Amino acid sequence: MKHLIDIQELSTVELAEMIATAEDIIANPQKYADACRGKKLATLFFEPSTRTRLSFEAAMYELGGNVLSVSSANSSSAAKGESIADTAKTVSCYADIIAMRHPKEGAPLVASMNASIPVINAGDGGHNHPTQTLADLLTIWREKRRFDNLTIGLCGDLKFGRTVHSLISAMSRYSGIKFVLISPEELKLPSYVREEFIESKGIEYKQTTDLIEVMPELDILYMTRVQRERFSSEDEYQRLKDSYILTPDKLETAKSDLSILHPLPRVNEISVAIDSDPRACYFKQVLNGKYMRMALILKLLSMKDCESDASYEGERVVDTIKCQNPRCITSVEQELPHVFKLTDKEQGVYRCIYCESKAK
Ligand SMILES: [Zn+2]
Repeated sequence: MKHLIDIQELSTVELAEMIATAEDIIANPQKYADACRGKKLATLFFEPSTRTRLSFEAAMYELGGNVLSVSSANSSSAAKGESIADTAKTVSCYADIIAMRHPKEGAPLVASMNASIPVINAGDGGHNHPTQTLADLLTIWREKRRFDNLTIGLCGDLKFGRTVHSLISAMSRYSGIKFVLISPEELKLPSYVREEFIESKGIEYKQTTDLIEVMPELDILYMTRVQRERFSSEDEYQRLKDSYILTPDKLETAKSDLSILHPLPRVNEISVAIDSDPRACYFKQVLNGKYMRMALILKLLSMKDCESDASYEGERVVDTIKCQNPRCITSVEQELPHVFKLTDKEQGVYRCIYCESKAK
């Protein structure tokens, strides 16, 4: 691993190593205070996400490093039409590592293919946000001291919630996992996520619309925001919204060691009355996110830059099919080759290497 673009690139062994590093940082912060002395992190944020940027910057400062920051696309050369590739090559001359957030899916992958320094995906549209998943995973580890034999409830918007999809893909690699998928009908987990990470691995799961009914089973409850604009009608939204708001009465039947997670920001889906409950872990999750970003920066800066990019392995077709996804980086960067990778030999499925859309 030279870059971190998708959480799937991180093996369970690499993840365990990073968790060990994060726990050592927590126990011995002074030992790491100069670990990145003289190194520079460039935070290239082409859409605003203040909390993620602050977390990366705090992580680098706590390692004794420095930060170069582009926090708005309007003030950068992207506004003048510079390609991601050129931006990546240019920033490679100034910095030692890049954290990139971009509204288009696949932009950080394009950056990683052109940069001579490690690139971390800090969120690409609705696609991947691997460092949020690292925060989620460290939180689960610190609360439970295990990744196996857990019943994990995921509640709210399971259709568009990228953090939910990443967490499912990461946790599906452990044994004894059971997923409980709690959402309104219109926001159910997409079938491709269910098939790829749950059904094909023979993992036990349950789909329900009723949070209260499944509460007693859960070891982890991962809450997400249910946004008004995701519903087909205002009536539907009004009818359903309260069922996915966590309030103290809904926790009456919950386990005493339940861990409640939320990727934040929350709007109203967890009542503030729960913040003082020892089972609430969402602010610990923020802190854990900083520690995992520190562990990640250390790991990537220590790598030899000879490893190939996994996304470029396997059978590929270039430019014979075009990606139709309007959120894909290829929709705005005209000179980028459209590359599709054979991801399922039996079914003959090709997916765009940038956004993972199926070839039509
Ligand atoms: Zn695409």
